[in-house]
Amino acid sequence: MNLVLLGPPGGGKGTQAKRLQDKYGLVQLSTGDMLRAAVASGSEVGKRAKAVMDAGQLVSDEIVIAIIDERLEQPDTKPGVIFDGFPRTVAQAEALDAMMERKGRRLDVAIEVRVPDALLVERITGRYTCAKCGSGYHDSFQKPKVAGVCDKCGGSEFVRRADDNAETVTKRLGAYHAQTAPLLPYYDGKGKLHLVDGTQEIGKVTVDLEGILDALR
Ligand code: ADP
Ligand code: ADP
Ligand code: ZN
Repeated sequence: MNLVLLGPPGGGKGTQAKRLQDKYGLVQLSTGDMLRAAVASGSEVGKRAKAVMDAGQLVSDEIVIAIIDERLEQPDTKPGVIFDGFPRTVAQAEALDAMMERKGRRLDVAIEVRVPDALLVERITGRYTCAKCGSGYHDSFQKPKVAGVCDKCGGSEFVRRADDNAETVTKRLGAYHAQTAPLLPYYDGKGKLHLVDGTQEIGKVTVDLEGILDALR
C-alpha cells in the first residue's frame, strides 16, 4: 500500500506518518526530512535548498523528484510508503504518477489532513523534536511524559527547525494554498482523495486514518 498524506505545514502529517508506519509496515518518506539531511550534510543539493527553505518557499520540483525517485529504488520501500510532504505541486504529482507506473507500483490513496490556518501558527511555533531519535513533540499539545526526557529513547536534547518561526509560517501557508492545495482536486478527480479532520486530538486523527487504510487492505 502506498499513500500520500496531504495537508498544510504543521497539520500533523509527520506525527501521523510515524504512528502509521509500524502498524502497516510502511516507510515514511518525508521530503522535508530528506532536504534537512541534505542541508546538514553540506551537499550541493543542500546548499541550493537551504535559502529556499529558510524563506518558506518550495524547493524546485526537479530536486525533490530526483530525491524521491532515488529513495524508491531502495528495497525497504517495496512493501509500501507514506509520502509525507510530497508531492507539493501538480508537477510533482504528475511526476510521481509516471514514476510509480515506471516502477510497477501504484498509489492507493491520498488523504487530506485538514486543519484551518488559524491553528497552524501555534502548532508550528511550538514544535520540537528529539535530537537523538527524531520523535516529535509540542510545547502544549504533545509534551514528553517526563519533562525534558524523550519518551521513546530517553534522550534529553531537543531541536527546533530554523523555519518554524511565525514569519516563515505565513509564507509556507501561502505556498500551501497557491501550489499544494490544487492537488486536492487532482486526486479527487482520480477518485483517490479522502479527508480526515486534523483539528481533533492526535489519537483520534490516527483512528480516522486507520479506518481509511483498513478499508483498503
Ligand atoms: P506536519 O508534518 O504536517 O508539518 P507535525 O506532525 O510536525 O506536522 O505537527 C506539527 C506540530 O503539531 C507538532 O509539534 C505536533 O506535536 C503537533 N500536532 C500534531 N498533530 C496534532 C493534533 N492533532 N493536535 C495538536 N497538536 C498536534
Ligand atoms: P512542513 O510540512 O512542516 O511545512 P516539511 O518538513 O515538509 O515542513 O518541509 C519543509 C520545507 O522543505 C518546505 O517549506 C520546503 O521549502 C521544503 N520542501 C519539503 N518538501 C518539499 C517538496 N515536496 N517540494 C518542494 N519543497 C519541499
Ligand atoms: Zn528520542
